[in-house]
Amino acid sequence: MQTKEELLGKTPDELKTLVVGWGMPAFTARQILKWIYEKHVFRFADMSDISKANREKLATLAAIGINPPVETLTSADGTEKYLFRLDDARTVEAVYIPDKERATLCISSQVGCRMGCLFCMTGKQGLQRNLAAAEIINQILSVPHSMELTNIVYMGMGEPTDNLDEVLKSMEAVTAPWGLSWSPKRVTLSTVGVRKGLKRFLQESKSHLAVSLHSPDMRRAEIIPADRAFPAADMINMLREYDFSHQRRLSFEYIMFAGVNDSLSDAEALAHLIKGLDCRVNLIRYHAIPGVPLSCASEKDMTMFRDALNRKGITATIRASRGEDIFAACGMLSSRHKKHTAE
Ligand code: SF4
Repeated sequence: MQTKEELLGKTPDELKTLVVGWGMPAFTARQILKWIYEKHVFRFADMSDISKANREKLATLAAIGINPPVETLTSADGTEKYLFRLDDARTVEAVYIPDKERATLCISSQVGCRMGCLFCMTGKQGLQRNLAAAEIINQILSVPHSMELTNIVYMGMGEPTDNLDEVLKSMEAVTAPWGLSWSPKRVTLSTVGVRKGLKRFLQESKSHLAVSLHSPDMRRAEIIPADRAFPAADMINMLREYDFSHQRRLSFEYIMFAGVNDSLSDAEALAHLIKGLDCRVNLIRYHAIPGVPLSCASEKDMTMFRDALNRKGITATIRASRGEDIFAACGMLSSRHKKHTAE
């Protein structure tokens, strides 16, 4: 049987080449993109401005490539976690986080991750493969709240700068006039810092950046092995070359581990490290994962840490925990799923 061409993730030019090759007018490409991204219509039969004959032809030759989540967990606080099963039976996750007028979707960029961060469940899986742009876009378009989303964060499974071609291609679909037509300011890429990928992202994208710091000094390499190749101090120097004062926002993510990075001297070292940068710091509670000798800092220490940063003129907030009852930390659900399918 002839395999169908999947259209999700194709650029307008790629799509035009396809439809023209199938004997259809070039503008059919534009019509299809409008139905997919503007109207969230994923059946050729419903694309009413395309001729009936061409709709039937499309249905035999192509598929949109929408692949909805196979499992949804809903938290008492409204957070929803989705599990997607990919064509090769691997799984990735996305998390929907409603918060007053915002509705954020946290999406994955890789199956597993090669960065091996000590505190992370996805890191324990190692890198299995990169996601294609279509698989990234699918997470955004196929979730139940797709039409209500206000923000996208590339903060799920994987290190986005380690799969930057596909990540940038998916971002293009989110921000381009032919795609979702969102402002780049509604999109944030989160990274531990991979030198080449980060530089390219800063040059080629206008979206926000969230850097996972988690320690202001040499101990960072014990928590985030990628720090050995690209130490935090070098990364901060690179960031100083870019303007974060207007359109683009820079934030530092700082998971607080008891007795590791939660002292007042750590707060001072952090303030010193990022001094002069237009940025904010998000302090994050750590949710223990099995087999990892780390625990969350106390509320008292987190508050003291935040206040110390604020006194130094750095905007720092303690992020509210969301979806704790549904394994909302990245990689938890797919790791559980992997374990179950292996049993
Ligand atoms: Fe990879 Fe991010 Fe997990 Fe580190 S925290 S292992 S970069 S997914």
